[in-house]
Amino acid sequence: MDPNSPSGIYKCTKCGNEETHVQGRSFAPCSKCQNNDWKLVRKTK
Ligand SMILES: [Zn+2]
Repeated sequence: MDPNSPSGIYKCTKCGNEETHVQGRSFAPCSKCQNNDWKLVRKTK
């Protein structure tokens, strides 16, 4: 996913795993299922 996506908690659309993303950092695939499609759950600062 785009590293410039807003910072927040993202949920893997495939397995439901939640991970934190910080804007500007690389957006790694899901650590559990390697899926690379995330849904924003909650934005953080
Ligand atoms: Zn996953």
